[in-house]
Amino acid sequence: MEYILSPKDKDAGARPGACIFCNFPGASPSTFRENLVLAVNEHVAVMLNRYPFAAGHLLVIPRKHTAHMEDLSVDENDALFRAVRDVGSRMRSLMKPHGLNYGINEGVAAGAGIAEHLHLHIVPRWSGDTNFMPVIADVRVMPEYLDDAYRRLYPAFADFPGAAPAP
Ligand SMILES: [Zn+2]
Repeated sequence: MEYILSPKDKDAGARPGACIFCNFPGASPSTFRENLVLAVNEHVAVMLNRYPFAAGHLLVIPRKHTAHMEDLSVDENDALFRAVRDVGSRMRSLMKPHGLNYGINEGVAAGAGIAEHLHLHIVPRWSGDTNFMPVIADVRVMPEYLDDAYRRLYPAFADFPGAAPAP
């Protein structure tokens, strides 16, 4: 479970200035679609996971570059969890899942792929959905699939604070 939920780009957060959870939300909105960013506002960003565990696997990411929950201010913490609740609600309306997994892996030992920057996974689940994408070391999801998923999810986030430009 931890393995599957982790982004596999383990180097992405390791180099100074190379944190995708800082750089993608901080880039021009014109890049949001290619980087799978659905929304960016003062405190959070919402992105599709490039290595999804299931269709619609999203990440809610605090804008602050920190590895630890306790480094978030009270306002940042509140904004993160308000956003998580909002994202879950939108996913429930759009995708009609039977359940949702909400999860944080804090630290490499806990399964975080990009441990330097805290992020929360939201994964829609359906009863009997045991045939997930195969768990193999170098699984790569087709870019076409990800772009299609982005376009299908976008309408549910078009009025989210800081929504990306319409694809
Ligand atoms: Zn970062």
